[in-house]
Amino acid sequence: MEVQLQSDPWEWEKPMATYLLRYHSDQLRSIASSPDPNLHYPLFIDFAELMEEHPHLARLIFSQPTPYLQAFDNAALLSHRIVVRDLEQEKNVVEKNFIHVRINISGSPLECSETFPTIGRVRVQHRGILLTVKGTVIRSGAIKMHEGERKYMCNQCKKSFTVYPEVEARNSISLPSICPMQKLKPCGGTKFQYVENTVVCHDYQEIKIQENDVIVTGLLTAKWSPELKDVRCDLDPVLIANSVRRTNQLKSEMDISDDLVTKFKQFWDHFKDAPLKGGRNAILRGICPQVFGLFTVKLAVALTLIGGVQHVDASGTRVRGESHLLLVGDPGTGKSQFLKFAAKLSNRSVITTGLGSTSAGLTVTAVKDGGKFPYINFY
Ligand SMILES: [Zn+2]
Repeated sequence: MEVQLQSDPWEWEKPMATYLLRYHSDQLRSIASSPDPNLHYPLFIDFAELMEEHPHLARLIFSQPTPYLQAFDNAALLSHRIVVRDLEQEKNVVEKNFIHVRINISGSPLECSETFPTIGRVRVQHRGILLTVKGTVIRSGAIKMHEGERKYMCNQCKKSFTVYPEVEARNSISLPSICPMQKLKPCGGTKFQYVENTVVCHDYQEIKIQENDVIVTGLLTAKWSPELKDVRCDLDPVLIANSVRRTNQLKSEMDISDDLVTKFKQFWDHFKDAPLKGGRNAILRGICPQVFGLFTVKLAVALTLIGGVQHVDASGTRVRGESHLLLVGDPGTGKSQFLKFAAKLSNRSVITTGLGSTSAGLTVTAVKDGGKFPYINFY
C-alpha cells in the first residue's frame, strides 16, 4: 500500500485565502460590490498559476478534488470577508454567503491526455481525480433547484455538522452511522437532528455531451440509474462539473462578411439565366463529391439540410420544422457517406449508427426530464 503524507484540507484554508487575496483581489472586490448576498458567485483560478505558487497544493487538488475544492470554497469566503472588511467605507459592499472556486486548467500540465482524455477513453482510473473532458452538448436539462448541503446536530455532544447529498445515489442524503465530530475523543453519538433552515440550494443542470465543443473540468463519479421495474439498474458515468468553458462559437453566430455576400450575389448573377440547371446543380456537385452521380439523393440531402417549414411555438420562438430523410439502400452504396457529409455541414449535428447502439438498430426514446420537458434522444 502506498503511504501518503496526509495533510488535512482545512489546514490549507489560510494559505489558500492568502493566495486568493494576492492573485485574485480584483475578482474578490467585484464579488464584494455585487448586490445580492444569496447568489452563488464563481471565483476563477488558473491551475497553471497555482502550480507555480503552491505545487504541493495543486497536486492535492488534482488528486483529491472533493475535500480540497471544498476547502478552497471556505478559503474564498475567508478572503472575501477580509476584502469586505477592508472596503467597509465604500457603499454597496455586502457580505456574500456562497463563493465557489472554479478551476481553469488551460495552459497547465492537466491538459495532457492522461487527465484530458477523449470521452470514449474515460475509464475507472479517472475516477476521483480532477478530470477534464471535451464534448458537444447534445442535450441539456432544465435548470433545477438542487440541495447542496444541510446541517445536522448530534444529540450526544450537541455539535452540528454538514451533510452533502450524494450525487451517486441520486442526491439522497445519508447520515453517518456515528458522530463525525471530535475525531480524537469520539462522543459515540448515533442520533442526529436536522438543524432548521440550514438547507443550501444550488442551481443544477444536467447536460449530456458527446465529443468536442465544450470543455468541462470536474470530478468523475457514477450515478445509479432510476429504479424501474424489470429494467436492470446501471451505473451511469457522471462528471460533477467544477468549471465549463466553450471552445467555439456556434457556426450560426458567425459573422457573414460583406465579401461573402458579394460572392453569393456574383454566384447567382452568373447563373441568372438558368438558376436551377446552372446554380443549383453546381451546388449539388459540391455535395458529397466523392460519391458519383446520385443526383436525386444529393438534392434530397441538400433540401433536408436547408429546407423545412418555419413554425412558431407557444413561447413565440421561431423554429425550423424538423426535416426527415430516409435513405434506403444496399450496403456500400454511400448512405453513410451522405450522413457524414450532412453532419459536417450542420452546426449541431450528432452522428450515430445502428452499430454503436443495440442489435435492434437505431432506437428512439422519448425521455421526460423534470416532468416538464420531453426530450427525444437518439441512441
Ligand atoms: Zn457527537
